[in-house]
Amino acid sequence: MAKQDFTLIGAGIMSATLGVLLKQLLPDAKIAIYERLDKVGAESSDAWNNAGTGHSAFCELNYTPENEQGGIDISKALKISESFEVSKQLWAYLVKNNLLPTEDPFINDIDHMSFVWGDENLNFLRKRHKALTAYPIFKDMLHSENYDEIKEWVPLMMTGRNKNQTIGATRMSIGTDVNFGAITRGMIAYLQSCDGVEVFLGHQVEDIDDKKDGTWKIEVKDLHTDKEKTIESNFVFIGAGGGALKLLEKSDIPEADGYGGFPVSGQFLKCNNQDVILQHEAKVYGMAEVGAPPMSVPHLDTRMLNGVRSLLFGPYAGFSTKFLKNGSYFDLPLSIDAHNIFPMLRAGLHNISLTKYLIEQVVQSPEERFKALEKYYPNAKIEDWELITAGQRVQIIKKDAKEGGVLKFGTEIVTNKNKTLAALLGASPGASTSVSIMLSVLNQCFPMQVKSRAWQKKLTEMIPSLGHSLITDEKLCKSTRNYTTSILKLEDQ
Ligand SMILES: Cc1cc2nc3c(=O)[nH]c(=O)nc-3n(C[C@H](O)[C@H](O)[C@H](O)COP(=O)(O)OP(=O)(O)OC[C@H]3O[C@@H](n4cnc5c(N)ncnc54)[C@H](O)[C@@H]3O)c2cc1C
Repeated sequence: MAKQDFTLIGAGIMSATLGVLLKQLLPDAKIAIYERLDKVGAESSDAWNNAGTGHSAFCELNYTPENEQGGIDISKALKISESFEVSKQLWAYLVKNNLLPTEDPFINDIDHMSFVWGDENLNFLRKRHKALTAYPIFKDMLHSENYDEIKEWVPLMMTGRNKNQTIGATRMSIGTDVNFGAITRGMIAYLQSCDGVEVFLGHQVEDIDDKKDGTWKIEVKDLHTDKEKTIESNFVFIGAGGGALKLLEKSDIPEADGYGGFPVSGQFLKCNNQDVILQHEAKVYGMAEVGAPPMSVPHLDTRMLNGVRSLLFGPYAGFSTKFLKNGSYFDLPLSIDAHNIFPMLRAGLHNISLTKYLIEQVVQSPEERFKALEKYYPNAKIEDWELITAGQRVQIIKKDAKEGGVLKFGTEIVTNKNKTLAALLGASPGASTSVSIMLSVLNQCFPMQVKSRAWQKKLTEMIPSLGHSLITDEKLCKSTRNYTTSILKLEDQ
């Protein structure tokens, strides 16, 4: 096989997004995509394996922590919100140019709400609302502590609730529910139709070695025939989700030293009562429990999956030593090596409360699990709900000069010195910010080309707001949202 310009490992939303960007910027590029499963977008990117929230920081309270002075730190929320607007622009570009063949609408308009109770939380929500609405990107956020008004927003959550309970909520009507699996499959289908792109399903990348000339030798196994082959590539992107850490370790780049991973799985309660499903139309996020990891914030969500409306509550955290839902129980033990054992032990010691929380989550009975739902939907009936298992997240553990090792909940791009290999570790805020994350890969690995006139022209054709702030420029924020809303067929604002 001829040498590839780019090899993308894994057919999830990250590789798909990078592939699309590269093919638009370099139409003649030779790109190979290797996926170990027989289906595209079937791990974390699949709709049933994630919560489908178009993370915009409208409702996720963990993106706006309270600082020691009692103020609200909204820096992360601003960044995530703008990133999601960037993602919508690329998707709109692809839709407008018929480059995203999808079966059903992949993005739907669903209100994003935060919901809290108790004086302390109400105070937090008030301060959060004030801080966020000072910026145009959050300007339309509504806030209420009025029982009747909140009942109009989310009637299902209010029936059976004590009227004397102090409650508060915020509401953003431009929130979304996204089928990231459908986007991934659409992008890969488009790539497969392009000259110079080959997609190999059922092919597992086993090893990555650098060659003397700075390019890469990649060993791939055809899982159907057990035959191995070696391919060569100028650039490698490890977009293998939970499988990325293992491949990064195999690449033997010094920049991978000290990285480890800690898997946390997610479970949801899925409602099977159609009457109940139709009474709720919002994604409603609450406060995480003390000691809970940030991605375990409870939420009651309307989902639109392949044209079918569903209602889910969760996530409940679980623990499995697998790094991928379709992975092996040996993933965690085999990822431990001399270079990361110390940071992993130190991170473990610093996160005893997380370990305790995970143990409590894993051993809880169905009735205990149900109690968490009743706080959001007091009249819920246990027989209407079934437990389903979503995807695996592998949180990053990283060596740290001060602490020895730290557990991180974000994503991180690791590159080699020559910028010919990039790997994505971590999973949050994830698919919603995939476009910004892949732009960051381009910026880090191809800085000269990104600055060139030709790439700038194409990039701004795909993402018109590039280089401008949607956070502070009210006019641009509004016009950008109007543009994506009309092309993606979301309701008018
Ligand atoms: C429970 C849960 C809820 C979430 N909720 C949200 C949400 O509401 N909103 C949001 O934006 N994000 C959410 N996320 C995060 C989001 O799902 C991920 O960030 C995103 O899907 C990651 O995409 P990816 O392409 O990196 O990984 P994946 O989609 O997992 O793709 C990686 C692919 O690589 C393949 N692979 C692995 N190893 C190899 C190998 N050696 N050779 C070949 N192929 C390989 C895998 O089979 C897989 O198909 C959630 C995640 C979880 C687990």
